[in-house]
Amino acid sequence: MTLYIDDVRPGDVLYQTYTYGMGNTKSRGQGVYRHHVATVHADFVHPETGVRVPHVVLTSGKKLYGSDIRKCRRSSPEWLEQGWFESICGDCGAKRSEGHRYHCPHPRAIRAREKAALRGAS
Ligand SMILES: [Zn+2]
Repeated sequence: MTLYIDDVRPGDVLYQTYTYGMGNTKSRGQGVYRHHVATVHADFVHPETGVRVPHVVLTSGKKLYGSDIRKCRRSSPEWLEQGWFESICGDCGAKRSEGHRYHCPHPRAIRAREKAALRGAS
């Protein structure tokens, strides 16, 4: 689902996946950037040009414009591809075959722990 600036609020965390070449092979690895939104300026108009420049300012001070925001997601992919190597979780770093660590903050890991707790209780 495409993310638009009108849906972004201060305090949101936006995830942007990127790929990089792994060594001198043709395989690709995935990583994820976490953008912490400080303020949203959806109706910002440039004072000199009069051009509307919607953007958000991150806690790092960096600005993110509309086209960047559309590349972001609400959560990171559960598993990041690591070329020939096993996929890892972007949040806890666990290998896919081993599953998330018990403290992993990824939404899917949290949901899985909640399900397991419900099963244990019944
Ligand atoms: Zn994890």
